[in-house]
Amino acid sequence: MTGRFLFVLPFVMLLGCVDTFEQHLAYDYLGDGVHEVAPVQTPALADTVSVKGELGSASFGGRLRVSDSRLFWQDGADITLDYVVDDGVFVPTDDQGLVLLSFYHHLAGVRDDLSGRGWQDDMDAIFPVTTIAWTPEQLVSAATPIENAAYLSGGINAFILYEDANNNIPLGAHAGVVRHEFGHAWFQVLMLPVVERALNGDPVVEDLRAVNEGFADMVAILSLDDPMAIPFVERNPRLAHTTDGFTGSDDPYSLGVVFAGFAWDARVLSNDAEQTLELTVGALEDFREFLFTEESDGTAQQFGLMLYDRYSSEINDFRLCQAWRIRFPDLVGRCGR
Ligand SMILES: [Zn+2]
Repeated sequence: MTGRFLFVLPFVMLLGCVDTFEQHLAYDYLGDGVHEVAPVQTPALADTVSVKGELGSASFGGRLRVSDSRLFWQDGADITLDYVVDDGVFVPTDDQGLVLLSFYHHLAGVRDDLSGRGWQDDMDAIFPVTTIAWTPEQLVSAATPIENAAYLSGGINAFILYEDANNNIPLGAHAGVVRHEFGHAWFQVLMLPVVERALNGDPVVEDLRAVNEGFADMVAILSLDDPMAIPFVERNPRLAHTTDGFTGSDDPYSLGVVFAGFAWDARVLSNDAEQTLELTVGALEDFREFLFTEESDGTAQQFGLMLYDRYSSEINDFRLCQAWRIRFPDLVGRCGR
């Protein structure tokens, strides 16, 4: 009897595991701001049910804690997604699973894109992250500025998806939003000496957040080669954003959109988003060095000088100067001003 029982049990377990899958459902990005729920592959996702893999592990809940004016991340719970397998496709049976898998898919997409373009070392510095947390905004935003999703830097290195910010296309499942948040992680790596000075209360630039938000949008629009990658009308880089009237604003996006707007100008003139992204990263590295020189006046908008220098090294077109003069009316030292 015992022998037969032992024989039968593995057979039953096998039946339970017959549903293998090669793909999972996610909000796939079609471009021009349009997403569609469709089967995709995410090789970096080693364990789909637990949402774990090369990028790190996702979790439910977790919170930011402030202690001695320092931020700590308190872990949430491990994840076991509810799902069915339908024709070789892993189908999460709730909204949380669909958003988390979409986030993982987009994050793996940008990492793989950029690893393949020579930024492997930077990607190794970012991944794996501490966590990718699905958590109510209130457990995090007490300590951070309001966003729809967030990247926690300052030694925490985690991505947060606010479960209560998901209307329409869930923002945590949005390709452009994911790439924007990834841009903050990359910014942290590229600008480390500057970020550390700011954390120590001795900043070398006022409003580093504006450069950070601008860079994050640039990563999203240039890596997807899509000016509609950010789902907020006022962040469209084709709008006539200029520093005029914005300088000194508390809203980091008001200056950030000017940088992203100028990046898109360069993208349009060169017709080469990949090269424009490379030049943008170079400009940020130049800015990191420049901020420690005597030449710097400590303002964030000087990033516009570095962007111009890098773009003009490849784009030989008088319209680049026209665009620069419109975007940065207060900057001098370039384009005959
Ligand atoms: Zn941001």
